[in-house]
Amino acid sequence: MLLAMIHLAMADLPPFTPTPLEAIPAVHARVVAKFHTHTTRPLAYRLKQLRTLYWALKDAEPALLAACAQDLGKSAYETYLMELGWQLNDILFVCKNLQRWMKEERAPDTSLLNLAMRPRIRKDPLGAVLIIGAYNFPLMLSLGPLVGAIAAGCTAVLKPSESAPHAARVLQHVIEQALDPEGYAVVQGAVAETTALLARKWDKIFYTGGVAVGTIVARKAAETLTPVALELGGRNPAIVTRNADPRLAARRLLWAKLVNAGQVCVSQNYILVDAEILPRFLAELAIALAEFFPDGARHSASYARIINLRQWQRLVALLASTDGTILLGGETDEQTLFIAPTVIQLSSPLDPLLQQETFGPLLPILPVPDLPTAIATANTIHATPLAIYPFGTPAETSLILSSTRSGGASINDAFFHASIPTLPFGGVGDSGTGAYRGRASFDCFSHRRSVTTTPAWVERLLAVRYPPYTAAKLAQVKRTMDARPDFDRAGNVRGGWVWWFVGLGGRGKGAAGVRWVLVAVIAVVVRIMRARM
Ligand code: NAD
Repeated sequence: MLLAMIHLAMADLPPFTPTPLEAIPAVHARVVAKFHTHTTRPLAYRLKQLRTLYWALKDAEPALLAACAQDLGKSAYETYLMELGWQLNDILFVCKNLQRWMKEERAPDTSLLNLAMRPRIRKDPLGAVLIIGAYNFPLMLSLGPLVGAIAAGCTAVLKPSESAPHAARVLQHVIEQALDPEGYAVVQGAVAETTALLARKWDKIFYTGGVAVGTIVARKAAETLTPVALELGGRNPAIVTRNADPRLAARRLLWAKLVNAGQVCVSQNYILVDAEILPRFLAELAIALAEFFPDGARHSASYARIINLRQWQRLVALLASTDGTILLGGETDEQTLFIAPTVIQLSSPLDPLLQQETFGPLLPILPVPDLPTAIATANTIHATPLAIYPFGTPAETSLILSSTRSGGASINDAFFHASIPTLPFGGVGDSGTGAYRGRASFDCFSHRRSVTTTPAWVERLLAVRYPPYTAAKLAQVKRTMDARPDFDRAGNVRGGWVWWFVGLGGRGKGAAGVRWVLVAVIAVVVRIMRARM
């Protein structure tokens, strides 16, 4: 079966066809029933799915690269670097670590009596889950959560974005060929099909996309108390201080806006630049743009296009609405859905370009007089973006981090944090709920189930809990169970350095006792040795 996929070409696949609405309840029932067989739980089953998925993706590489080129005009290099290659590595990372992640964890820091009950945390799969993908990274945003669901032992239905129909076709083929058809399915479609899916009861819904639809998803999920992970957008700031390296900041931030023609949830939505460094920063932007695209972005195979006419029109209207000055770019072409990398200098934080997520190759720059103004402006524009990108000295970037909130941050760069498989990726506040990638993907679809086992022999010790409740029992409970505070009523730690000194470098009674015994033993040994000399 897998051999047949090695030469998979787009032309071999059926056209994009929405799943009939009447078929959706049966698809849901199938993955729910499969979950209740509990056969998706063993490590061997999960690994088998992940491994076959890995090879199916490898074999479908040419079709996947071609599909992203058709959907977004994305170069094969960019699709491989930022989607397929990354995703393949993520699968291998998950396969390598899954057994360890699945192991039960012992409860930390528990009393001797509690230890007898072996308190521990199991990692149980949540159940049958729904994954709704977005168009801008049509492979990674669908496969990433799917890998997490498989790793956690869940069954899943994936609904890729209809706005990237070619990628959706290849994904459907890969998943249907590689994965257990009872446990994993693809539903194709747009609003009607997603609405039909949301009408079913899931054990978790994982949604990637815009805030408006995210709100619809969260509202629908709340009706049945279904947990959600929401990976949403945000108005991400980059802050370039007067002490930043203007060349590095310009190159890195320009690149972050050119990837996928700016259709990246974690790229900066705007740049706050200290007025003192602004002329050098702008000059470096122009140099970098000419270096990246010597013949212009329009003629470069490295520059993507806008996903569809609706999004292109939205961006063109947004550009027309600004009160700022276009410094670089500004060219558009409806026929090819092209929008040039466009640098716009703004004069007000109220400019329309800062009121919404641009999600395109527009780089609004707002000069600021100093760092405190930059921080205050960023917090006013959007208090909880998906990411923040501070450029400056360690003291400045640390001040920015400690005075703002965001899902993640890359210091002196843009979205590097999103590429590290051991860092959870997600938003905060209204830029998202929950996180995934690597271990976090496993956690996202697992339930940490607390478990104890009470042995028969502790019955005498537990007798104190049974009625009749007496004053003697209460006294015993207080004596044996109550922990003692190491702070007074004003919230200050008791004793301070005096107790630290008395405790020979610590305040815990037990540890201090051990230290005193050790000192006594050493003193005795030294005395004996001296007596012998
Ligand atoms: P989109 O058009 O691909 O829509 C996302 C999904 O929502 C699709 O599967 C679509 O079918 C579904 N959908 C659309 N309308 C719906 C409705 N009325 N009811 C139910 N489902 C519906 O993508 P988009 O939303 O335009 O994506 C762009 C947004 O996604 C941006 O805001 C971007 O920041 C965000 N995004 C976030 C992340 C992240 O990881 N945080 C990643 C990529 C994109």
